[in-house]
Amino acid sequence: MEDLHTRYEQIQERIAAAAARANRSPNDITLVAVTKTWPVATVLAAYEVGMRHFGENRVEELAEKVPALTQALGPAHGAIWHLIGNLQSRKTSAAADQAHFFHALDRLKIANRLSTELQENGRTLPVLLEVNVSGEASKAGFDVTRWETDEGQRRGIRDAAATIAQLPGLQLRGLMTMAPWEVPDEEIRAVFRRTRELAHWLQETLPRLDFTTLSMGMTDDFEIAIEEGATHVRVGRAIFGEREKP
Ligand SMILES: *Cc1c(COP(=O)(O)O)cnc(C)c1O
Repeated sequence: MEDLHTRYEQIQERIAAAAARANRSPNDITLVAVTKTWPVATVLAAYEVGMRHFGENRVEELAEKVPALTQALGPAHGAIWHLIGNLQSRKTSAAADQAHFFHALDRLKIANRLSTELQENGRTLPVLLEVNVSGEASKAGFDVTRWETDEGQRRGIRDAAATIAQLPGLQLRGLMTMAPWEVPDEEIRAVFRRTRELAHWLQETLPRLDFTTLSMGMTDDFEIAIEEGATHVRVGRAIFGEREKP
């Protein structure tokens, strides 16, 4: 617990320092504490030291922890649960029921299913489009690896955004991306910068929509992401330590 408190303070200091380097306010950056694989007791300890935004990459795990936290703290706890991993279409209903924010919308099919289910239960869900800027095959998301020069890719992401923004229940808020693994910082920075520029282009092209949220950066690269405009960083290991391998 003491450790968690210390690590939380250190992360906040690093966020503030990165924000200062970019002339940004740390208040514009939301720390999503990634609690995947950790038990509810860890989430409660994180809550105790002040964390309020929690991230899970598997919807099954999120759907277990959301009610468990509410049971432990009562309904007015104010914690926000972010689903940060991709959804399979047969698992959309758990997300429509339980998630407060979905960062990894990567297909229209998922958007349509979520919309139908959200309408059924009268909820709304803010969403981000996951974009694959780096071209790494392991990365999900809309293919925008050459969006600056490829007219088809520009049309693809623009039309997807316009369609999704019209679906009842979904609230399009911006973009999410993952940097490639084990590449030089400059390549990571370029991925974040190009994602920010894409959001900017989309905002100019579709001025009525909202592309102001940028979810980028994890334990190894959140400071670069903040320097390049991230509004949400998703940090697990730097707060909770190494996860056990499944
Ligand atoms: C696990 C995960 C994170 C956090 O990764 P760390 O390296 O532990 O900070 C961030 N985003 C997504 C999508 C994840 O699955």
